[in-house]
Amino acid sequence: MKLLIPGPVTTRAEVRAAMAEDIAPWDNDFRPVLSDIRTRLLAIAGGLPETHTALALQGCGHFITEAALRSFLAPAGEPGAGRILIPAIGAYADRMARLAREAGRDVVSMDLPDQIPVDPAAVAAVLATDPAISHVGMVYSETGTGVIHDAAAIGAVVRAAGRRMIVDAVSAFGALPLDVSAQPEIDAVMFTSNKCFEGLPGLGFAVCRLDGLEANKGRAGSWSFDLQSIYEMGLRSPGSFRFTPPVQVLSAFRVALDIYQAEGGQPARLARYRANLDTLYDGILRLGLSPYAPRAHQGPVVMNTHAPADPAWNLQTFVDGLKRRGFLISNFFNTPTPSFRVGCIGAITPEDMRSFVDSVDAVLGEMQVRNRSPQPAAA
Ligand SMILES: *Cc1c(COP(=O)(O)O)cnc(C)c1O
Repeated sequence: MKLLIPGPVTTRAEVRAAMAEDIAPWDNDFRPVLSDIRTRLLAIAGGLPETHTALALQGCGHFITEAALRSFLAPAGEPGAGRILIPAIGAYADRMARLAREAGRDVVSMDLPDQIPVDPAAVAAVLATDPAISHVGMVYSETGTGVIHDAAAIGAVVRAAGRRMIVDAVSAFGALPLDVSAQPEIDAVMFTSNKCFEGLPGLGFAVCRLDGLEANKGRAGSWSFDLQSIYEMGLRSPGSFRFTPPVQVLSAFRVALDIYQAEGGQPARLARYRANLDTLYDGILRLGLSPYAPRAHQGPVVMNTHAPADPAWNLQTFVDGLKRRGFLISNFFNTPTPSFRVGCIGAITPEDMRSFVDSVDAVLGEMQVRNRSPQPAAA
């Protein structure tokens, strides 16, 4: 089965095979695995050991995002309280805002169109009128809409305004460029083991600025989600995890990193995903279906297509038909209007995408979906 979803992604057999061994995380043979992963991730992010650290946390992307918000942003109502501006540009930006609010952080939202990248000038204007905003929270690749937001351009206005930035790069990091040394305004960039690195799910990572971590020390309000505490554990006992990690996922992640680097790292991965997307986008147009995002703003991670207007359309039936042909896509959508979404990331190639597009055509035929124009609500 090929998973065409933006996480968990299709993995290579070598990656899955690396999980087939029982091992304990504190074993002296295993500790170097975590140390090695942290060192390599720091380098991939462009971080230097003097200014940055790469940390790992058990769990999914929401967990590492909550941990970063708690660890860098002081709670509302306390001296030195932070305030975070989160442009509302899709489902994952909304999730970041909810995580921050429920952690008792002060959130300012900003309504923006969701099908185009965030305008840095609009962010600069809000920062200029509200000096209490300490941070901007942004989603680099908005997995809800498929649009890529310009982390460097938004970072430049955040830096110019003397504020800090927290970047959800969960569906971006590893494929889209990001250099934390060139963007010193970034306090934390978050990602996971199972998206663009093509590992198994179970681990979140954050590349963090040491000064930002230190500045908010003791204020996470959660032991589980305290990145400073994780950092200190690493200093006291290199290679150690606080609490039991999914050890086999770590072993598999190291193999995934080897493959990533052998493939040519970030530029090569971006090129493959871009080729996957181009094949898919062309195919969707050829089938007479309507993409959700305009081509110019469509990122290489996930593509949404408007649900066809035909009364015979049914997302679950469509998903089941594709599954019988060897492709699994999401049976839900994250756009304001009905759509279906297809991931372009994971161990898949343009060849897989060509075959997927043929399957879409065949399944729509089977379902007797004749009217392929978008549903009226979306028009
Ligand atoms: C996948 C994803 C997450 C995290 O999702 P989990 O299900 O918690 O792993 C967060 N942000 C973005 C942009 C994502 O694509």
